[in-house]
Amino acid sequence: MVKQKIGGLHIQYFEVCPRKLWLYSKQISFETEHEKVIEGTLLHEQSYARKEKELQLDSAVIDVLDEEYVQETKLSSKMQKADELQLLYYLYLLKSRGIEKKGKIAYTKERKVVEVLLDEMNEKRIKQVIANIYTILEAENAPKLKKLPYCKNCAYYDFCYALEEE
Ligand code: SF4
Repeated sequence: MVKQKIGGLHIQYFEVCPRKLWLYSKQISFETEHEKVIEGTLLHEQSYARKEKELQLDSAVIDVLDEEYVQETKLSSKMQKADELQLLYYLYLLKSRGIEKKGKIAYTKERKVVEVLLDEMNEKRIKQVIANIYTILEAENAPKLKKLPYCKNCAYYDFCYALEEE
């Protein structure tokens, strides 16, 4: 079986909710424009960043800022851990192609920038995340619903909770 290519959203969803990752991977999509804006995916198109060029690697589009850095631009740091994992994944994809970069996440609302480095520990961490993602993607059934504070903002809310009430 050909392995599904992992993109930035797979990493984000893994961190937010494994069930959401599984549903997304099966192309069960209820994602709204609102949610996309919340998660910053539209920012990619609208970014004010001084990006030099975009690199397409597997299913990931990476903004190369300069010789040293790649950058992600997000609205707010509400999902900072997921954002960091996503950027680590990009750094890892680049490294596996012989390109070593550091990462920056620019949060537009808070006007703050966070540096992300693919050190030894983070490389182990992202490899483990990738392995865990494939375990979820290859599972026959969706992970069980786990009620999360994030659920009420999730595009799968009606889907998940309607099934719960049956
Ligand atoms: S509604 Fe909650 S449980 Fe369902 S996919 Fe979204 S975050 Fe996960």
